[in-house]
Amino acid sequence: MAVPPKLKLRLSYDPALPPDTEQLLTRTVHGTALKALLVFDEPFWRAKGLSGQTASDVGPVTSTFDNSPPGGTPGVLLGFVLARHADELLRLPEAQRKDAVLRSFALLFGERARHPRRYIDHSWTEDPWTLGCYHACYTPGALTSYGPAVRRPHGLVHFAGAETAARWYGSMNGAVTEGQRAAAEIAKALEQPEPAVGTAAGITAASALGDGR
Ligand SMILES: Cc1cc2nc3c(=O)[nH]c(=O)nc-3n(C[C@H](O)[C@H](O)[C@H](O)COP(=O)(O)OP(=O)(O)OC[C@H]3O[C@@H](n4cnc5c(N)ncnc54)[C@H](O)[C@@H]3O)c2cc1C
Repeated sequence: MAVPPKLKLRLSYDPALPPDTEQLLTRTVHGTALKALLVFDEPFWRAKGLSGQTASDVGPVTSTFDNSPPGGTPGVLLGFVLARHADELLRLPEAQRKDAVLRSFALLFGERARHPRRYIDHSWTEDPWTLGCYHACYTPGALTSYGPAVRRPHGLVHFAGAETAARWYGSMNGAVTEGQRAAAEIAKALEQPEPAVGTAAGITAASALGDGR
């Protein structure tokens, strides 16, 4: 199961998750982030020798990138609104939120940036399949108290995802290597002989597998 921790908690398990796994997953928080895409006929900033990449301490947009396709048409600028800036914008009606984002782009790239052909933004906090961005963090004490639960399988359920990674935590690399780790674990488990049903050991193993055998 490779979904963010808060989503792992929204599923129901039978048997229920062990207390330390439940406590660990409860102690996670996601950041707030808004991603905005501005589409123009062409990447006009390139003609001025600009890369499209910025970092700003003014906000609400605090970083931007040139997100145009390889051919360069259309021109696409991408901007992130993060943390307190994102919390503030998400309290505004949609039109005001768009105005604030476009104002930021105009500050960085000039008035032309205020008039994209198309504007799209996405609030990751409101995305029901993500619930926040860029990833979840464990709150202080969570890992020191419940660390062994991070990657421990629960019966047939093996946990993976960016937030189980010891290296590249919270990033794409971590998500991919954790997928490989969990797949290898499952392949190994499938090589084990099935427990004999009826023995004390068999019953324990069967109930841990959670598949009714
Ligand atoms: C805007 C943004 C920018 C980012 N930028 C970078 C970056 O530049 N570099 C980088 O390394 N990382 C970046 N990240 C982080 C990176 O995207 C994540 O670390 C990575 O995607 C996590 O992968 P994952 O497989 O753990 O989970 P996810 O990518 O969240 O995948 C989980 C999947 O499970 C699905 N799902 C959820 N619940 C259920 C359910 N109940 N049933 C079925 N399916 C379900 C979801 O729809 C989703 O497809 C960024 C993240 C965001 C949001």
